[in-house]
Amino acid sequence: MMFSSSNGDADSMDKPEIFLRDVFLARQRCSGFAQKTPLLHSSALSASTGYEVFLKLENLQQTGSFKIRGAANKLLSLSSEERQRGVLAFSTGNHGRAVAYVAAQLGIRSVICMSHRVPRYRVEAMEALGGEVVLSGQSQDEAYLKALELERKEGLIMVKPFDDPHVIAGQGTIGIEILEDLPEVDSLLIPLSGGGLLAGIALAMKATSPAIKIVGVGLEVSCPMQASLQAGLPVEIEEKDSLGDALLGGIGLDNCYTFPMVRDLVDEVILVSEKEIAAGMFYAFDTHRQVIEGAGAVGIAALLVDKTSHLGKNLAVVVSGGNVDPRLLAEIAWREYA
Ligand SMILES: *Cc1c(COP(=O)(O)O)cnc(C)c1O
Repeated sequence: MMFSSSNGDADSMDKPEIFLRDVFLARQRCSGFAQKTPLLHSSALSASTGYEVFLKLENLQQTGSFKIRGAANKLLSLSSEERQRGVLAFSTGNHGRAVAYVAAQLGIRSVICMSHRVPRYRVEAMEALGGEVVLSGQSQDEAYLKALELERKEGLIMVKPFDDPHVIAGQGTIGIEILEDLPEVDSLLIPLSGGGLLAGIALAMKATSPAIKIVGVGLEVSCPMQASLQAGLPVEIEEKDSLGDALLGGIGLDNCYTFPMVRDLVDEVILVSEKEIAAGMFYAFDTHRQVIEGAGAVGIAALLVDKTSHLGKNLAVVVSGGNVDPRLLAEIAWREYA
């Protein structure tokens, strides 16, 4: 584990200026881009867990993940001068897809930086959406350096995947939708990587009632947010491969919004193994006929192995995306049946 050397400024990290109003503004702004997704009651998971389990199906969202919410809120907040310059994203996939899609809809140029480790099918999907893809380095951090270079050289506007107030507020619109459909929600399981998804939803939930429990679910192989919470400041840890590849990548040593928000709003973080994620993906496919990616399956995975306790009655599980290589899902299905 490597600790940040540059991070002495703890005070400025304590004041994220994002309010519930920003989430409502995002809801209004993004209504033409992000669909309201279904909140599916899972009688099967309810029977096996004792909770009333509801699945928030962001795998059915436009571009296949919730990331379009934050991207749309960000791009729609740019000035016309900024739109003219074009936008830039560094991404393991879903964020880039969302930025490319929204930019194309708005007639904005988009450049997407990714590491060479990102699967080929994700690159092709991005290009099909109209994004210009630039591959660089072996990790998200290296792709980020490339993005910084392009930002300097070409004047493109960087759209961060999570550590941006507009992005966080955009992801928070999921929270408003859940509250509309299930105002009696007691707790949520939310996939956790950079923390934009969790911070936005948690903001909406805790403003509604501090009693609503927020549980982040991360990868056992690598969870930089949990390591950072334990260290008390953003830290880097080694990047590994995972079925939940959309949850890989650091939180940024210069993180200023999501780290303090997650620290202040999350009640608990639990981690799931690769085997558990595979079981969660298969369960969604087999039981609910839903195609979900590894990152989207972590909440179901945690429920299947009984990793939660004392979460009240009504539990909402955020199924964050469905962009999985069909061959991988088929392989998992064969294995799980065997
Ligand atoms: C980005 C992403 C996440 C994690 O979101 P953060 O805001 O980085 O915590 C979870 N699931 C999917 C499918 C994603 O694309």
